[in-house]
Order: sequence, then C-alpha cells, then structure tokens
Amino acid sequence: MAEKVCVKDGKLIIPDNPIIPFIEGDGTGPDIWRATRRVVDAAVKKAYGDRRSIEWKEILAGEKAFHHTGEWLPKETVDAIREYIIAIKGPLTTPVGGGFRSINVTLRQELDLYACVRPVKWIPGVPSPVVHPELVDVVVFRENTEDIYVGIEWLAGSQEAEKARGFLNDSMGCDIPEDAGIGIKYISKAASERIMRKALKYAIENGRKSVTIVHKGNIMKYTEGSFKNWCYAVATEEFKEKIVNEEELQTYGGSAPEGKIVVKDRIADNMFQQLLLRPSEYDVIVTPNLNGDYLSDAAAAQVGGLGMAPGANIGDFVALFEATHGSAPKYAGQDRANPGSLILSAVMMLEYMGWKEAASLITEGLAKAVSKKTVTHDLARQMEGAKEVKTSEFAEVIITCM
Ligand code: NAD
Repeated sequence: MAEKVCVKDGKLIIPDNPIIPFIEGDGTGPDIWRATRRVVDAAVKKAYGDRRSIEWKEILAGEKAFHHTGEWLPKETVDAIREYIIAIKGPLTTPVGGGFRSINVTLRQELDLYACVRPVKWIPGVPSPVVHPELVDVVVFRENTEDIYVGIEWLAGSQEAEKARGFLNDSMGCDIPEDAGIGIKYISKAASERIMRKALKYAIENGRKSVTIVHKGNIMKYTEGSFKNWCYAVATEEFKEKIVNEEELQTYGGSAPEGKIVVKDRIADNMFQQLLLRPSEYDVIVTPNLNGDYLSDAAAAQVGGLGMAPGANIGDFVALFEATHGSAPKYAGQDRANPGSLILSAVMMLEYMGWKEAASLITEGLAKAVSKKTVTHDLARQMEGAKEVKTSEFAEVIITCM
C-alpha cells in the first residue's frame, strides 16, 4: 500500500511505495514528464522488482492549474509538497503581466527551499564547448532565499526610491543620484550557516574532496565577506574532525589527510576562470544567490548546456526536484524536447531517497543512449552521425540501455 514519506527523529523515512507528487509543467513539460516517469518506473522495477514502486500523485501549477482552478499556484499544491516532502516538477511558464511573481520563485519562498542544488557533470559524447569537459564534476549549492536577488528594489524616481534615497543620503552619508533605481542586498548569518551546513553534509555523505566558498567579499565586505566568514566558522566549529582548511594543507605535506574535506574560498570573478582553467580542483561549491545563479548556468554550459542539467530546491527535508530549463513553448506538444534535464533531476530525487540502484541504472541508460548517438534533436544536430529520436523514443532507448 502506498504511504507518505515522513520524518522521524530528524531522519527521512522512505516507505517502499512512497506517494510522490508531480507537477507536469507547461510547454514541453507534459512531453518530458511522460518520458521521465516511464524511465523512473522502469528503473525502479528493474532495480527492486515488485518490492518497491512509486505512487505518482498529480498536483497542479501553471497553465493547467489556471485552466482548472483559476489560480496559477493553488494553495493545495504548496500544501501537498509540504505534506509529502518529496516532489518533482517540469518547467513552468511565467505568465506575462504586471506584478506577477514567478511560480518557481514563489514555491521556493513558500516552502523555504533554501538550497538550490545543481550537480554538473559531463556525460561522454554530449557536445561541449570546452576541450576537457570530463574534468568538470561539481555540485553547486546556491543560497536560495536572500541576497540582492530577492527583488527588494525601487524604480528610479518613485516615491519609495525617493524615501530610501532621502534616508540613505541624509542619515547614512551616502551620495545616491536622484535618477537611480535602488536595490537592497542582505545576507544573514543564519541563512549562510544553513547552506554551508547542507553543502558540508553533502560533501561528507558523498565522499567529496573539497568545499569551495565562492563570494565577492573583497568588495562587498559585510554581505559576501561575512558570508565567507560565517561559512568558515560552521566548517571549523561544527565539522572540525572532518575538514581541513586550505592554508593548513602545508602542515600535511600539501594534500588533505585521508577522509578529510578541504575547505577553501575563491572570489567570484576568479572562480569563473578557475572553473574553465582548472575544473578538476573544484568539487562542492557554496555561494550566495546571485553568484550561484550565474555560476551554475556557466558550469552547465561547460558540459553541454541546460538541456541536460538537473536541479533541486531543498529545505530541511522538503525537496522539489526540477528541470533547470524553461518550458520552451515553441516545442510544446511536439514530442521533440530533450527530457535529459528532468530525467537527471529524477536521478537526484532517487539518490535523495536512498534508492541508489535505480538512480545508477538511469544514469547508465542515459549515458549509453548518448554514446550510441540516439538522441533528441538538440543534441543530434550537434553530433556527427547521430540518429534523431523523439522525446518518447529517447525514453525507450534509455530504458533498453539500462
Ligand atoms: P527555455 O529554457 O524554455 O528555452 C531556452 C532555449 O533552450 C530555447 O532555445 C529552447 O528551445 C531550448 N530548450 C529548453 N528546454 C529544452 C529541452 N528540454 N530540449 C531542447 N531544447 C530546450 O527558456 P525561455 O525561453 O527563456 O523561457 C520560457 C518560459 O519558461 C518562460 O516563461 C520562463 O519564465 C520559464 N522558465 C521556467 C523555468 C522553470 O520552470 N524552472 C526556468 C526558466 C524559465
């Protein structure tokens, strides 16, 4: 009988037949979701026979929700994700129109999904713009709830901007010009600490070698600089036995002792170079919201772009796995889009559930499908001698290759 995922004594409990809500998404969402669901069900069946299976439960958001309920993001959808703890979603179109907040951003905020986790690893054969994409294997932990990114800003000349400018110029010694738009950047100790904790725990549980704090603290000392300091403090105070700081490496002959994770930091602009020039030196990356937004897309591009980049938004247990690309409306209903991003997000979900065997089967199946050059159009057009297949056919190829 299907059961809910739950948390007991601070631990996630996954039943053998968990109920997992899904949002199929807009545009290409239904096509790539169908393909993903088939692949996941086949992998779970192959890995565990009748012992385990997922009971999928549809929840509505986006155009389908609006059509059925008149709301883009019904409260029941948010409540269901909170209640069932683990969920997966296809891309959602952001409706165009004044004052509309992105459904994705709303979900992250309402559910306090404070970590945006994006693993970036090359699948052999996927066309890449760099010479050695195989050297990239990083997981970006982007803080999801704060920073300049949250949208506290005022239009130049508006009453609000005038009020803020008046206060800042008159009372705080600033010199903001009259025609300036104003935005607020804030980064708190608590939010910095919890994202670092999550990144370190992930690094420890997954046998990763280093955690790099990426910041622009040389310029923004009290936001990004403090982020760096708070992250280091978590590492040294809470994970003392498990980590070694980069400066201490000399005392160990230049490399970390067995089983210890190196904690280091890099300034954001340098990090973009480093990921291109020395990708093998980086592993887990932890960074504030805006840096993380740029860095995760840039890293994904190195291994072949967003079509194959998975992601998840994770809070304390509640986790929403999602394709990182948008709804690509021009391919809607054509059975043509690449389901790779959503399929790999489902792999992350299975790993999060501890169903590693099923996760590995999918990764293997996908890698084999790519190595056989039987791929969707976005990849086929960049690969010599490739056979282009539809979204649904690609799912079948992956299943046969498991
Ligand atoms: P997009 O990601 O939908 O498309 C960008 C490009 O990538 C297009 O050229 C498209 O053809 C290609 N592409 C995207 N997904 C693909 C796939 N699965 N297979 C092959 N090619 C693919 O970005 P956009 O056009 O800027 O946005 C469209 C809509 O999606 C907007 O409403 C936007 O707000 C929304 N969006 C949603 C999410 C999300 O749900 N997480 C993320 C980004 C954008």
